Amino acid sequence: MAAGEEEAAAGTETESEAAVEELRSFKDLGVTDVLCEACDQLGWKVPTKIQVEAIPVALQGRDVIGLAETGSGKTGAFALPILQALLETPQRLFALVLTPTRELAFQISEQFEALGSSIGVQTTVIVGGIDTMSQSLALAKKPHVIIATPGRLVDHLENTKGFNLRALKFLVMDEADRILNMDFETEVDKILKVIPRDRKTFLFSATMTKKVQKLQRAALKNPVKCAVSSKYQTVEKLQQYYIFIPSKFKDSYLVYILNELAGNSFMIFCSTCNNTQRTALLLRNLGFTAIPLHGQMSQNKRLGSLNKFKAKARSILLATDVASRGLDIPHVDVVINFDIPTHSKDYIHRVGRTARAGRSGKSITFVTQYDVELFQRIEHLIGKKLPAFPMQEEEVMMLTERVAEAQRIARMELREQGEKKRSRNDNDDDTEEAIGVRNKVAGGKKKKRKAF
Ligand code: AMP
Repeated sequence: MAAGEEEAAAGTETESEAAVEELRSFKDLGVTDVLCEACDQLGWKVPTKIQVEAIPVALQGRDVIGLAETGSGKTGAFALPILQALLETPQRLFALVLTPTRELAFQISEQFEALGSSIGVQTTVIVGGIDTMSQSLALAKKPHVIIATPGRLVDHLENTKGFNLRALKFLVMDEADRILNMDFETEVDKILKVIPRDRKTFLFSATMTKKVQKLQRAALKNPVKCAVSSKYQTVEKLQQYYIFIPSKFKDSYLVYILNELAGNSFMIFCSTCNNTQRTALLLRNLGFTAIPLHGQMSQNKRLGSLNKFKAKARSILLATDVASRGLDIPHVDVVINFDIPTHSKDYIHRVGRTARAGRSGKSITFVTQYDVELFQRIEHLIGKKLPAFPMQEEEVMMLTERVAEAQRIARMELREQGEKKRSRNDNDDDTEEAIGVRNKVAGGKKKKRKAF
């Protein structure tokens, strides 16, 4: 984020910061009985803070800006008012939710379906990596709610005969800061041009960046701001550590820590798809149940990985930043920044995967001789100096031989996988990233997109 945006985010003021002192019920917020029952069935006993703030104003028909992150219950905060409006005036192609990643799209659709099952709500997920024909068929059935990533939705708006959003009543932009950071601005503009001006808009974002402010001015009418927490604070129950180590022994230190903290569930962040895959293979060769999640995997594989981890069939999830925000993974005990994040803000998002909902958690950041400056920036951002994670160096060194052997096998496996993929002439290129690149090329811009 540019310095100006960082300031804008840090200085964001809210109009309704009233703390929620007493626990209120969904009914108190104006939620209709059948939806209160649905909440109850999901085990949602009382509304979360963002729900308390946003639901009443949304039910009054106001546009809403919600400053809240995933994990805050924000999906319920926008889904409940939409479902209630749908109950009052049933209509097909009623609401569109734009979200930055495929995983989030599926999670949102699951929540809509769970909350709306008793009222027969139909949703469709429109994301890259899935064949367009079956999506066109699903759109032809005119679902009530479409949950989409912007790139693929624009593809359908431009190419799918008979599909349009001219009757849309609700637009949600979920994780708007991230949508814009992923360079989906052009796509969002295109979508805004083909939906009715006379609609309700909810914009949810973890940070109020300059780009988000611009989008807010373009898309929302006289909105009410609802916020639940200040952005750059890591929770108290999170114990944050670093380790300062030579780059060439990173793998051995990782194995040491996984052994030391055995029995926990881990999320390990790597900076590239390739390193995510490599490290997963390495750990598997050493007998750990590790599973990768990154943007070069097919849609099915990504969902499969996530589900196995969620179901606790695997205890270690290795991910790129595509997974660092937004995913609802409740039971991560330890976050390891195996590769230090280059944007300090990503640090907050990564470590935010643990110590959620009042539970405690640990994060350990690997700092090599090349990462000192980045690490200092992180400490500056969070406003504290982190302690070193205690280690027995001799024990780490005893692991190096076994680790070297596992590295050798992992390299071989990686090469084999690459060759297999090439020979399959895999057309798994339809990822959000690839679509983004195509759109950029089509738009004549030369800026390269990072593959996460
Ligand atoms: P979200 O921030 O929308 O991704 O929600 C995070 C998690 O909180 C999801 O697993 C929701 O099912 C859950 N959740 C949402 N609202 C409530 C609530 N009022 N009480 C308990 N859990 C909730």
